[in-house]
Amino acid sequence: MHFDTLAIHATHQPDPTGAVVPPIHLSTKFERDENYELVSEHGYSRFSNPNRNALEQALTTLEGGAVGMAFGSGQAATMALLQALRPGDHVIMPRQCYFSTPMLLEQVFHPWGLTYTRVEMSDLDAVQAAIHENTRMIWVETPSNPLLTLSDLLLISQIAHEVGAIVVADNTWATPVLQRPLDLNCDVVMHSTTKYIGGHSDVLGGALIFKDANHELALRVRQIQQLGGAVPSPFDCWLLMRGLKTLGIRVRAQQATAQLLAEFLEGHPAVERVYYPGLDSHPQRALAKQQMNGPGGMLSFDVKGDAEAALRACANLKLFTRATSLGGAESLVEHRPTIEGIHTMAPPSSLRVSVGLEHIEDLIADMDQALKKE
Ligand code: PLP
Repeated sequence: MHFDTLAIHATHQPDPTGAVVPPIHLSTKFERDENYELVSEHGYSRFSNPNRNALEQALTTLEGGAVGMAFGSGQAATMALLQALRPGDHVIMPRQCYFSTPMLLEQVFHPWGLTYTRVEMSDLDAVQAAIHENTRMIWVETPSNPLLTLSDLLLISQIAHEVGAIVVADNTWATPVLQRPLDLNCDVVMHSTTKYIGGHSDVLGGALIFKDANHELALRVRQIQQLGGAVPSPFDCWLLMRGLKTLGIRVRAQQATAQLLAEFLEGHPAVERVYYPGLDSHPQRALAKQQMNGPGGMLSFDVKGDAEAALRACANLKLFTRATSLGGAESLVEHRPTIEGIHTMAPPSSLRVSVGLEHIEDLIADMDQALKKE
């Protein structure tokens, strides 16, 4: 089945009333019969809930996994996975990725006993050199935030598996529409479902999808989810299921616009450099073609000049909302160096764009006037 068909049918939940759109099960508890047997598979919503189970199943199907767990945010999902490791374990983390992921490792899990090494994940020799005898996990984010650097999922998985480590791919930016890491030998897919999967900037969520349902870490993460309770609400799960139905069509539309916007920016006299894996100038264009179905809806670019020039262009924009996050219907612009602070890898004059669903001609006209205006 094609992704779009799968997305519609994997999110359809049969309901005894015949409702085509599933109800939201707000009940926190589920009844037992006179023999004290649970009436359904559910007992208490921290452990399982019909809306959450349906979301987990749908995400697992769309990523081609064996089991999935949904959380209240992307960071809660990451946290559960890191908690499933043991003190003394070693993690390899990209130098360039969503900045709060390594922050979690550094500020929460390092004091708790995890060790880690940050590497340039696109450099396979550096990945190999970072392997320790206690390495349990390689974290990959591809394309990476904020400069859209790609990492070779197949080859990194090979390096990890030689030493019995697992590979976790943060697939938030690509989504399963454009990249399925489990098909490329990764072991776990992580999502901030807050982004493209929700798709409307109105729900926080996260998920982990495992290739092997019986993997020690999958079993442990389920325990952490159910005992720790960092779970999404039934309404959040319902919204995410609704988002999944249109994921394919949204991502492809955003990608088509991003491609044209990237080409426009690359030819603009006020732009120094564009970071977009759909451009021939992207150093990993070949890898993008090999492991992705398309370059996606995110791009970054350097404005000619300094941080002030970038912030001026940003201030001049009228259709791009100045806000963090990504993957919604509205185009967003962000000055990552301001957000990430002194440790940022983003050049001072760079801007990151999450392309929305507006018409390309309007976005180009807006970008053009913003870059020309003093
Ligand atoms: N991973 C990536 C690539 C992200 O962009 C984000 C959020 O921006 C996260 C993880 C964290 O997700 P959340 O904000 O849902 O906790």
